[in-house]
Amino acid sequence: MIFNFVIFLSTLIAMEGVGFLAHKYVMHGWGWFLHRSHHEAQLGALETNDLYLLALGTIATGLIVLGNDGYDPLQWVGAGVAAFGLIYLLVHDGIVHRHWPVRPQPRNRYLRRLYQAHLMHHAVKGRRNSVSFGFLYAPPVATLQKQLRDLQDADRAREREASLSDLCGTSINSDLQNG
Ligand SMILES: [Zn+2]
Ligand SMILES: [Zn+2]
Repeated sequence: MIFNFVIFLSTLIAMEGVGFLAHKYVMHGWGWFLHRSHHEAQLGALETNDLYLLALGTIATGLIVLGNDGYDPLQWVGAGVAAFGLIYLLVHDGIVHRHWPVRPQPRNRYLRRLYQAHLMHHAVKGRRNSVSFGFLYAPPVATLQKQLRDLQDADRAREREASLSDLCGTSINSDLQNG
């Protein structure tokens, strides 16, 4: 029993890492076309982004079915994945985005930190330069603010460089044309 619980808990914790990587590199990468709906101003009750949750549910169910068919302890891995999905649903959809008729308020410090961190994730428009990709763990707000500033500074520096090299390119070209 303890062994199963350890598997369940380790899966739940590992899922935070998997979720972070999937959010940063898949959902804000090639999977942006599905996740974009979640970053647009009008958040409906259902979005294409919910397909990610559906995929998570399918994986959890598959693992539980396999485990019950004799591939022990896959059902406990599946339970960990399912628990992650449920907590995500409660915290992300319920407390942060308030998609439900009942709107729970983030009262304790941990939930408030998750709440603020996720609002900062949504503060950036578009897929690039966002911060806070985790769901169950959030760095302190000050750290996220610094990350945001650094990303914006780097972006501005890149833009300056690009426009500078454009300018140089044009002046060299016109120099060449003028002989
Ligand atoms: Zn996102
Ligand atoms: Zn969100």
